[in-house]
Amino acid sequence: MEREESGPLVTIGAFARLCRLSAKVLRRYDELGLLPPALVDPVNGYRYYAEEQVETARLVAWLRRIGMPLNRIKEVAALEDAGAAAASIRGYWAQVEAETAARRDLAAFLVDHLSAQEAVAPVGTLGIRYAAGSDAGAVREHNQDAAFAGARLLAVADGFGAGGAGASAAAIDALKPVAREVSRGAAGAAGLLNALEDAAEQAARAVRDAVAGGGAPDASGTTLTAMVWNGARLGLVHIGDSRAYLLRRGELFRITHDHSVVQSMIDDGSLTEDEASSHPQRALLLRALVGGDGGGAGDGDGAEVSKPDVRLQEARPGDRYLLCSDGLTTVVGGEELARALAAADGPGTAVRDLLALAGAAGCPDNVSCVVADVVSL
Ligand code: MN
Repeated sequence: MEREESGPLVTIGAFARLCRLSAKVLRRYDELGLLPPALVDPVNGYRYYAEEQVETARLVAWLRRIGMPLNRIKEVAALEDAGAAAASIRGYWAQVEAETAARRDLAAFLVDHLSAQEAVAPVGTLGIRYAAGSDAGAVREHNQDAAFAGARLLAVADGFGAGGAGASAAAIDALKPVAREVSRGAAGAAGLLNALEDAAEQAARAVRDAVAGGGAPDASGTTLTAMVWNGARLGLVHIGDSRAYLLRRGELFRITHDHSVVQSMIDDGSLTEDEASSHPQRALLLRALVGGDGGGAGDGDGAEVSKPDVRLQEARPGDRYLLCSDGLTTVVGGEELARALAAADGPGTAVRDLLALAGAAGCPDNVSCVVADVVSL
């Protein structure tokens, strides 16, 4: 935004009237580095603006109103190309909506939880039955997915990059001690949520260490979709484009939001679900557990890039959960998934049937499934 040619300059008061902002707001924008004046008088410090800065001033004001962070506003305001600025705003908004969706789910859970505490089954009356399976598929030479099912932990992770297999294994291994702690305390909702936050941090750290230790490039990493069972509830940790589904009373609900470029395009209406499944960039992730500083997002954004969503699910007898990598969902559609999941007589059969469905569809990617049933004891 360096200004070299000199158009007519106006005082801050005149400029404020032109862009319908107050002089106070303009001084604030200058202090924040969002809109430096074209000229500052070196003697008296008066600020002067170029008339063509009006558009930028109004753009900055609008971006402030939609809640865009300062750093991001600076980037957008510096873009010469209106199309690029539009794309950047669209991307930001998709991210806001994804985060809002995760917060809405958590808020809904809290409302549920606080208004119907007695609905939670007493610890010891419910249990889970589970099975896991993973397959390299028909095309890939190696399996970089990892899948795990145990009495306290269910998890799938889809590794990518040269260090992908190590990353996916490390992410799941990091959750095991946390899951054991939860079982010992039979923690309530708050305790379980805290444990999930810890689990998410441990997993992120374990992946960074695994990628650095293996000498793999920082671009290596993994998705992670995992559930911790505390005897009454399931806590979900999720980052990337692996998914969790809940089959309840014959209906299939997807309970995770993909952190992918195509999902953000679906969210902002520029792509349909059908178009997304064949989009050339469908594998590009917005968030994942990665090596290095978080994918080079820089300036404190790195932590966000590697920050999983966490949420709680009340367990009901008869619930069936599916965790799976994108190797399943890119080749097996939602209806087929629901049918196979509902028809299976137990978690082991369900996992086998789903892997077979992916195999029948050509299985171009590694594929992993974990299925767990909530049962009355
Ligand atoms: Mn995959």
